[in-house]
Amino acid sequence: MSVLAILNRPSRDAPAHAPASPPFHFADAAEPQLSVLDLGATRGDGIFETVSVGYGRPQALEHHLRRFAASARTLDLPAPDLDAWRAAILAVVAELGDVDEGYVKTVMTRGIEGDDKPTGWVYGSPSPDHSRARREGVRIVLLDRGYRHDIEATAPWLLAGAKTLSYAVNRAVAREAARREADDVVFVSSDGILLEGPTSTLVFRRGNQLLTPGTGLGILDGTTQANVFRYAESVGMSTGFELAGPDALRAADAAWLVSSVRLAAPIRAVDGVDIEIDHEFTAALNEYLKRLEE
Ligand code: PLP
Repeated sequence: MSVLAILNRPSRDAPAHAPASPPFHFADAAEPQLSVLDLGATRGDGIFETVSVGYGRPQALEHHLRRFAASARTLDLPAPDLDAWRAAILAVVAELGDVDEGYVKTVMTRGIEGDDKPTGWVYGSPSPDHSRARREGVRIVLLDRGYRHDIEATAPWLLAGAKTLSYAVNRAVAREAARREADDVVFVSSDGILLEGPTSTLVFRRGNQLLTPGTGLGILDGTTQANVFRYAESVGMSTGFELAGPDALRAADAAWLVSSVRLAAPIRAVDGVDIEIDHEFTAALNEYLKRLEE
């Protein structure tokens, strides 16, 4: 079962699609709803967020909304009306019902070329089953992203660090991983700095410390990583950001790819070399992530 809500006015900085109509309406996700002239479809010109829904509650919603607004700024899109988006998200989540694990995807495109009205929708669905990746872990390969780690500051027009609809590269690297008999990828900058996965944030443990590459590296400010750190601190671990190279990952005591929906997937091999999985910590962490209250 899936639920779709289409926003009438995704941004207060742009006109409504239908001035006298309510802020959003439900529509049939199985029917066509998007114009073939929409710049989201023709150019990948837009932004999105994917929010986990755990036991009927959207998780890290305010962090996702902040990141949605930040992505819009990076792309010079009209600012999303966060109240309108929040209301549509909560309505979709309510309509989804009491699913144990689901997700809500928010999409805002630049709309139809020359029309000055962004297109916006919220799509909700139960999640695919990720229990195997959480339990058995993922084999990752390190792939060169082809950019230096300081790209966000030196070449902001490349939109690194924004969650844009242009994800064809992120899909291509998953196919490259499969060709290399791996399940997922960690990008490395052209100057040798660990970055992120194509749909996840890298977190690794050294002793009692949980580390992540941090923001400002042209990577996403992960909502799950923030909650992983909250959990780690609640069980007495320290947390931090580290500009690190692949050797730090190979030498880690444990490592994870963390993201909305799949949550924490332990890394079990890096470029074909096995690393330890901390099963107990991973299970407790995923239980915490699934039951987040906000
Ligand atoms: N990095 C990239 C490139 C992503 O696409 C995602 C999520 O899809 C993440 C990191 C993890 O972000 P979050 O934990 O907020 O889902």
